[in-house]
Amino acid sequence: MEPFTIQTASDPHAAIQAVGATAGSKYIAGGTNLVDLMKMYVETPSVLVNINGLDLQKVEIRHDGGVRIGALVRNSDLAHHPLIEKRYPVLSQALLSGASAQLRNMATTGGNILQRTRCPYFFDISFPCNKRTPGSGCSAIKGYNRPHAILGGSDHCIAVHPSDMCVAMAALDASIHIEGPDGERVIPFVDFHLLPGNTPEKETQLKPGELITAIDIPKLPRSAKSHYLKVRDRASYEFALASAAVVLDMEDGNIRSGRIALGGVGTKPWRATKAEQLLKGRPTQELYNTVAAAALEGAQPQTNNEFKIELAKRTLIRALTTVGGIV
Ligand SMILES: Cc1cc2nc3c(=O)[nH]c(=O)nc-3n(C[C@H](O)[C@H](O)[C@H](O)COP(=O)(O)OP(=O)(O)OC[C@H]3O[C@@H](n4cnc5c(N)ncnc54)[C@H](O)[C@@H]3O)c2cc1C
Ligand code: SF4
Repeated sequence: MEPFTIQTASDPHAAIQAVGATAGSKYIAGGTNLVDLMKMYVETPSVLVNINGLDLQKVEIRHDGGVRIGALVRNSDLAHHPLIEKRYPVLSQALLSGASAQLRNMATTGGNILQRTRCPYFFDISFPCNKRTPGSGCSAIKGYNRPHAILGGSDHCIAVHPSDMCVAMAALDASIHIEGPDGERVIPFVDFHLLPGNTPEKETQLKPGELITAIDIPKLPRSAKSHYLKVRDRASYEFALASAAVVLDMEDGNIRSGRIALGGVGTKPWRATKAEQLLKGRPTQELYNTVAAAALEGAQPQTNNEFKIELAKRTLIRALTTVGGIV
């Protein structure tokens, strides 16, 4: 690990100023991703600004009935919060499917959104990696690419976005509140993460020095039901090979409308909007099959992960069946 200094900020303004004051500074929240990357020399910040003392640790009901989640709410606290368990079980389930209890006790909402890919070549500085060193090449495309993305990849990067929580947030139409040197802004969750394209090193819309302060989730209709299903190589403490977050608005046993996001298969948390348009009416096996085929349309498997297409379809169909039943 390279030497670094650490400063503690007491409010968002001071944190933003501290990060802006020295090039190469970074915020640190739970540290569960950043410190690992520093140990591997993938990240080499000269200054860390500790934001754990900021007043961003609450989960609150908004005036419009939605929920606001502070960026520093720990993954465990969010998963077990009564409002989240009752209204957004998909989010609680996604959080509890991630990492381990110890990690979830440290990991924060903001840090989870900004966690980096688990591509093994990204973590190993002896390999070329366009995301880590732009222009150096992608070791995964012709290398070991079983865990990699089948949706949203480019000739420059096929790294999968690793978060479970983000998949649920994408399906819940969340939005991200940001403060920075140029003021405040709000970005829809589905637009926040970027496709790799020619610039895989640019992963989000966050500008230098900006701080995530909160995430808003809109109110769901009373008739809405939701579920998160994750499939992985072992039962716990493992990233998704495929996952599905499903939110259905049901009426008299029929689907009025639905939202779908996929994990483990996309270069960003993958909202399947085209498939959602088909998700209406009687919840039959045929409907679910059609929706799943649409969700995976255009998938481009790599040499080691063609199995993910069928796996993702089956994961989605199982999640839809769990929420909507089947006639
Ligand atoms: C062994 C292991 C297994 C895991 N398994 C899973 C899994 O199955 N599913 C899953 O989803 N995740 C998994 N994770 C990832 C884990 O969820 C993340 O490490 C965690 O959510 C990151 O949160 P943090 O608060 O520790 O972030 P940090 O490590 O503190 O920060 C991560 C990044 O976010 C930036 N940052 C943090 N907060 C803010 C903010 N408010 N504003 C701006 N920038 C900010 C930091 O500068 C840094 O770049 C696993 C991690 C490990 C180590
Ligand atoms: S897939 Fe992306 S992160 Fe992995 S080696 Fe290629 S460029 Fe790097």
